[in-house]
Amino acid sequence: MDKLRVTIWNEYFHETEDTPAKEYYPRGMHEHLKQALAAEDLEIRTATLEQDAEHGLTEDVLRWTDVLLWWGHCRHSWVRDDVAQRVAERVQQGMGFVPLHSAHQSKPFLRLMGTPCTLRWRNEEERCVIWNVSPNHPIARGVPLHFGLAHEEMYGEYFFIPEPEELLFLSWFEGGNVFRGGCTFTRGLGRIFYFHPGHETCPSYHNEHVLRIIGNAIRWAAPPEPREFRAGDEMERI
Ligand code: ZN
Repeated sequence: MDKLRVTIWNEYFHETEDTPAKEYYPRGMHEHLKQALAAEDLEIRTATLEQDAEHGLTEDVLRWTDVLLWWGHCRHSWVRDDVAQRVAERVQQGMGFVPLHSAHQSKPFLRLMGTPCTLRWRNEEERCVIWNVSPNHPIARGVPLHFGLAHEEMYGEYFFIPEPEELLFLSWFEGGNVFRGGCTFTRGLGRIFYFHPGHETCPSYHNEHVLRIIGNAIRWAAPPEPREFRAGDEMERI
């Protein structure tokens, strides 16, 4: 079987400017995730906001990509509308999409959800417990029934998303809030998994369970073989 082709997209701003983001992710979250997720069955490339005029997400790159991971935070508005639309259309055509952390406000996610995707937040880096509430799901494979993150940004309800198709992870925060932090959706032929950990000043992408969940999500979201059907070509008339 061919390797799954993964593109990790990152805004890549905080890690160039702010500590401790720089210390946790000295080469950027995209390079960190590329290394941390490396596996025999994956071929991983990265792209960043300022890589080129199209943010590294040309037609060719998206056509190549089976699953796109997206991390963006404070520069969502810098993403060109036509590129965001192209991403959303590719998801509809079957590309898997894994928006991470504050990608809940990214242009492609908003287009795909059709709701404001707003939430409550509080950045006091409080303790977070992630509950695995669908342990038989492929994305939860090998993940304990609950695990803790020493500190993470609080994201809480109400999370203004459409009703998720599946709720896989429910997060609890020290301040009392809860959050639907791991949800699946389908749009057209594309599978989407939103997952909330990953604030830039927290080392969440060094956590083995978080990485396992993201790795499982890539394999779950990938389009099935043959890939030709999701390539975006016009359907033949019969
Ligand atoms: Zn954040």
